Amino acid sequence: MKFDILTLFPEMVTGGLNTSILGKAAEKKLIEINAVNIRDYTLDKHGKVDDYTYGGGAGMLMQAQPVFDAYQAVAGGRKLRTVYVTPQGMPFTQKLAMDFAREEELVFLCGHYEGIDERVLEEIVTDYISIGDYVLTGGELPAMVMIDAISRLVPGVLGNEGSAEKESFHNDLLEYPQYSRPEIWHGKQVPQVLLSGNHKLIGQWRREQSELRTRERRPDLYLRYEQKQKLYKKLSKDKRNHIQFMESLFRGKGEILYAQDGNVLLYDADCRLCMMTVESEEKGRQLLELVPEGIELFLNSQEFMNKAVCERFSFVVFHECHQVCYTKKEALPIKHKDIRLLGPEYLEDIAAHYHMGSREYVKGRLLAKAMYGAFADERLVGFAGVHDDGSMGLLYVDEAYRRRGIGESLEAYVINILCRQGYTPYGHIVVGNEASLKMQERLGLYLASDHVWWLGREDW
Ligand code: SAM
Repeated sequence: MKFDILTLFPEMVTGGLNTSILGKAAEKKLIEINAVNIRDYTLDKHGKVDDYTYGGGAGMLMQAQPVFDAYQAVAGGRKLRTVYVTPQGMPFTQKLAMDFAREEELVFLCGHYEGIDERVLEEIVTDYISIGDYVLTGGELPAMVMIDAISRLVPGVLGNEGSAEKESFHNDLLEYPQYSRPEIWHGKQVPQVLLSGNHKLIGQWRREQSELRTRERRPDLYLRYEQKQKLYKKLSKDKRNHIQFMESLFRGKGEILYAQDGNVLLYDADCRLCMMTVESEEKGRQLLELVPEGIELFLNSQEFMNKAVCERFSFVVFHECHQVCYTKKEALPIKHKDIRLLGPEYLEDIAAHYHMGSREYVKGRLLAKAMYGAFADERLVGFAGVHDDGSMGLLYVDEAYRRRGIGESLEAYVINILCRQGYTPYGHIVVGNEASLKMQERLGLYLASDHVWWLGREDW
């Protein structure tokens, strides 16, 4: 992911971002920091970039020309997502960080003095974002704060995948208290449960502590958390038909845009995916008004909503699918023994056979450590994985190795991993794929009574 930072103080930004984890990420080419000095683009022969404000008032204002030319030098005619960091913007949040992390390139515009001439902002800025209700002297620190938060969500940047998933704000909860050695310090003992080795109990304790801490310190967040818990419980009365909604809430990805009676609209900012179940077309059409800009995928639980969604977002229906989920406790036996986690070096092998998502998407799945491969004689002969929304999929087995139980072994392997992580494994099977349905049945997955429909842009 590339960050272009338009600033009057490039050395401040590069100095701050080229160290520690982000420095390593830049070395590994997972992120790229391109700091551009706005002053290099001024047409003023004295190198001036600011002037007095029309109408009077204290302080100087950055002029439009150098900012615009610096932007053009980076964009080169392209329309890039461009963030003006400003106290007048929307507050920056973890959710926004997730949304930005999906971009391939982002421009940050840092103001100074009294800010920047409004006319250039109107022409180039797509997002106005603040880091809090206070005024700083310049936009460099806010840009660095945002770039740090976004970068650590780029797959592969954090060595320990999943660590971002367990942190504060995930699922609207603050993180639980943590302890390191020694066991006793200043007479204070580490909570016994953390020394027990019982991961179920440790998980329960951490969840309780997270809830307590959030209720005390951030009652606003806790309210949202409670609302999601309530919806989760309600949906669980018909788990098989609502599994996608439930897992999205459970993973802290789904935001509730609407939930009343049998009408639910969730938004997963990370996947730019909306999922909806409604009681009537009229209600569904009303809820479409709540869908955020930039949506890329839509999951309908009712066929009667397909037409309205296609019209509203210029989408097409990709697939009608069965829903299956694995709700048993037992781990599944795995017949094919050589299955391994795949790294980014397998990108080409997978991209050559997987055509339901882009190469970039596959790369993201590999970096997220969500792809597994079956090997025979040290050769990759099949693979399966977990999609970014949490569903299982991306299954493929080489023609020559089919009918040997390799596909089944791969899926069982993924199921066992998801169960160990505390998730309910689930997936979508395109209607008509009888072979896959039979395999799901053999593995012990349950079939939901209702179908779902995936919609998106034709050129996706
Ligand atoms: N006159 C401006 C106002 O009242 O909104 C404040 C200008 S501030 C002194 C200079 C620059 O610092 C801004 O253009 C912006 O880029 C940056 N900045 C200051 N506070 C910020 C905040 N809380 N969040 C994001 N950027 C901020």
